[in-house]
Amino acid sequence: MSCIMVYALVCNFSKPHNSSVVRLNHSDVDTLVHEFGHALHYFLSGTDYQHFSSTKVAFDMAETPSKLFEYYGWDYKVLKKFARHYSTGNSILEKLVESMMGARRMVFCNGIAVTCRIWISHIIFFPSNETLQI
Ligand SMILES: [Zn+2]
Repeated sequence: MSCIMVYALVCNFSKPHNSSVVRLNHSDVDTLVHEFGHALHYFLSGTDYQHFSSTKVAFDMAETPSKLFEYYGWDYKVLKKFARHYSTGNSILEKLVESMMGARRMVFCNGIAVTCRIWISHIIFFPSNETLQI
């Protein structure tokens, strides 16, 4: 007996404004590649051992393929294949992707810095075992 596996991604993207053209912002692309990673994981992880497949694995393992796929959403070589300006049809510019990555690094690094400051302030103000419960 053969079977055909069918997977569908159902995403809640924004509706187009005054146009029939659906435009995805980068956050939408991030979501799309992330969810595609989940679909691919489910598709490829069919095994005889149910505890090693799809959603039955540990949460961080279930997220790993999706997190890896998120990198494609930031890779210019991947983006230039489908990311186009809605009216000109021109591919996304490499400089724009570099700028987006720079902004991402800045936000990410600042986020870590803020988290570290909060964590250090907890150590300073709550030097007992309470710090371990953050
Ligand atoms: Zn996920």
